[in-house]
Amino acid sequence: MDIPLALAWLRETAAAVEREQTRLTELDSAIGDGDHGSNLARGFAAVLPALDALAPASVGAVLTKAGSTLISKVGGASGPLYGSALRAMGKTLPGERATPAEFAAALTAGLAAVQSLGGAQPGDKTLVDAWGPATAAFEAASASPAPDFRTAARAAAEAAEQAAEATTPLQARKGRASYLGPRSIGHQDPGATSTALLFRALADVTEPTPPTVSHPA
Ligand code: ADP
Ligand code: MG
Repeated sequence: MDIPLALAWLRETAAAVEREQTRLTELDSAIGDGDHGSNLARGFAAVLPALDALAPASVGAVLTKAGSTLISKVGGASGPLYGSALRAMGKTLPGERATPAEFAAALTAGLAAVQSLGGAQPGDKTLVDAWGPATAAFEAASASPAPDFRTAARAAAEAAEQAAEATTPLQARKGRASYLGPRSIGHQDPGATSTALLFRALADVTEPTPPTVSHPA
């Protein structure tokens, strides 16, 4: 991970949230108040100019700016939660580049921030249910003998997508959906779904290592 990749990740996330806005809102209409798509679209739309105006000196500066912007622009629960996650990640990434293992540690710090702010445990049918498995998958891939960022990002995206689908049979125990009690069962969690978009965006912007160019002698 380097500064251009961090910028590309957040810009691709903004585009994905915009594309999937209607779906996120439909999911939130079923078990919440129907604003998850518009909350995130508004937040990430504000992230774009904030990043354009930034001259980042570190990967962390990019994530911190995006996180602060989400916190200030999104009224719903998801803004402060995603904002805190990105800011916590930013704090752990002070350099111009980050190895897969360093990025895995940042994802872990992001998860801890979400859990400390929102109090959700795994299985509570929240974005923690996607962020946790995605982080575990990224971390496992990073611990391989020859860790590769793209492989780790793809593993994380697949884990997040499966985990988001796996929230459907759960009963919500945090956030607005918890007010529905057992009636929250049978619907995919909107926040876990947007977390899957975030990790898929990371996989999408991570290009394979270009082949070594051989220069003529
Ligand atoms: P609001 O619930 O304020 O309308 P959003 O609709 O933007 O906010 O976001 C709802 C999503 O936020 C939920 O689907 C869930 O994944 C996530 N969420 C809500 N409360 C919590 C919490 N305490 N911890 C983690 N995630 C949460
Ligand atoms: Mg909502």
